Amino acid sequence: MAQRNTWQRERVRDALSGAEGFVSAQALHASLRAEETGIGLATVYRALAGLTATGEADTLQSPEGEALYRACSQGHHHHLICRRCGRAVEIEAPPVERWAQETAAQHGFRDAEHMVDIFGVCAECAAKDSADAAKKDDASA
Ligand SMILES: [Zn+2]
Ligand SMILES: [Zn+2]
Ligand SMILES: [Zn+2]
Repeated sequence: MAQRNTWQRERVRDALSGAEGFVSAQALHASLRAEETGIGLATVYRALAGLTATGEADTLQSPEGEALYRACSQGHHHHLICRRCGRAVEIEAPPVERWAQETAAQHGFRDAEHMVDIFGVCAECAAKDSADAAKKDDASA
């Protein structure tokens, strides 16, 4: 059973690696459907859960509460994510690691984990925004 679904999982992994930044399961499913792979949405969800469990993919919650996925480097890290285009940058955050450890210790917590991701608008999208705003100004002038 698990064996039978291996190619589908590989296909989902490929699609995830090919995507720029974080994508939703639906978006991934749509791109697989466009290639007529016959992979269903439930299978995409299962494959993503498997990839996340083995550390081959990162998952996070968008500000809108949607689960997003990305093929990621392994090991603990954080992300800077553009909420406009989904582009993601992997970052290390030593001050956050220190703060998390100290805060957990102060409250007597052990084995503390944390997830800290920063959402914003990337430089490229911000540049596009101001270009569009300039165009609008031209039109109204
Ligand atoms: Zn990552
Ligand atoms: Zn962007
Ligand atoms: Zn951290």
